[in-house]
Amino acid sequence: MFNSMFKFLFVTLLLLVLSSYSFSADINMPFGQKAFEIYKTSVEMRTAEGQHQVPTLARYLASEFKKGGFPEEDIHVLEIEGTAALVVRYRGDDSLGKKPISISAHMDVVDALREDWERDPFTLVEENGYYFGRGTVDNKLGMTAVTAGFLRLKAEGWVPGRDLIIAFSGDEETSMNSTKALVNEYRNLTDSEFVLNADAGGASIPESGGRPASYGMQAAEKTYATWDITVRNPGGHSSRPREDNAIYDLAHALTKIQRYKFPVRYNDLTLAYLKGTGARTEGKLGKAMLDFSANPKDSAAIATLRSNSSFVGTIGTTCVATMLRAGHAENALAQSATATVNCRIFPGIGVEKTLSQLKITINNPAVEFVLLDEVTETDPSPLRQDVIVALQKAIDIKYPGLEIIPSMSSGATDGMHFRAAGIPSYGVNGQYGKSSDSFAHGLNERVLVESFYDNVAHWYVLLQAIAGKD
Ligand SMILES: [Zn+2]
Repeated sequence: MFNSMFKFLFVTLLLLVLSSYSFSADINMPFGQKAFEIYKTSVEMRTAEGQHQVPTLARYLASEFKKGGFPEEDIHVLEIEGTAALVVRYRGDDSLGKKPISISAHMDVVDALREDWERDPFTLVEENGYYFGRGTVDNKLGMTAVTAGFLRLKAEGWVPGRDLIIAFSGDEETSMNSTKALVNEYRNLTDSEFVLNADAGGASIPESGGRPASYGMQAAEKTYATWDITVRNPGGHSSRPREDNAIYDLAHALTKIQRYKFPVRYNDLTLAYLKGTGARTEGKLGKAMLDFSANPKDSAAIATLRSNSSFVGTIGTTCVATMLRAGHAENALAQSATATVNCRIFPGIGVEKTLSQLKITINNPAVEFVLLDEVTETDPSPLRQDVIVALQKAIDIKYPGLEIIPSMSSGATDGMHFRAAGIPSYGVNGQYGKSSDSFAHGLNERVLVESFYDNVAHWYVLLQAIAGKD
């Protein structure tokens, strides 16, 4: 009797525990309808550069937070150079005695033209189990999930043990002035121990469906730097060729860059990444990853990784010519020839060192270098156990036990400016998609309807796990 009663109680308790951790993520989930409404409204605002829609979106979100019970003094729409940033503070009771955590995402999108798309990019269209539209992934997916998480938790009366701060930027895809302002001029509003970035992180669903092999948490970014390299020449009539020639001299310089291999580099993060990914990758490539993670001097492993365009950038700096222009008439010797060379510099190497290496490689002092944009260099963020534990809880609601592998992206997200300002950043969005569905920045951007709601559930769990009192 006692025994069966005990069993009954045990099963009941077990069911209670399971039900509190199992989520049916769809539009009927708590705040699912609200999340969809915010998503649709924001996708349908053309928040591309020059369209002046970001401040409108920021004010719309601000009004939702106000309706959701956030006090006006904790909501800030910051107009910055034609765009806007949004800061919303979710006040905790400070029982954890820790600095706030920021959550970043961006409200702007890369522009899209109606005539290029199969559907109107600025109308949210649901078709064949997908949501289509510009920003459905990058980054209105993460932006919406974080917003819905704040609204739902507030409605449920949840009080975090430390402050949580939404820090949404408004020009991540272009100049990132709003991101820089968030961590500099408005540091008093956003100062935090670290930032969770909803614009990075996620897992690839196999093309045939099923469970991803692992989850990639972005904890570092390579430095993005672009140079124009130019050769000048007095020129002259093409019937009288001279020994020196702007086009040939530039071509020689480019061939040298093509042949040059930057030294092999690694850090704790890339070794952990290659070890984790190698264990799940078949054949020669998987073996090369494992061999490299065990011994980064393994020359066979280096050769295999360098020959693969997906991994050459993981083991060092890369530079590649991306644009070319020269000459002014078919019957004249070119007076100048310019190539654009884009580099993704391994963390810790630096722009100056990369430039001097390029100059040594080209070995022609007549070649001029012009750095095109201001460069932000950042170190990898330290791998934090509290972030990994909280993230695992959020991942577990969809894929129990899925392994988290730290990753370095080739740059650049808002996380870069937070890292540069001394605030570590972790890309921890719950974005689950097939690589064949990856159209961010491109045509017909889309996300699985299921993945949209999974991400809403992901942030709801993650925010509680990272800032809950127990
Ligand atoms: Zn993005």
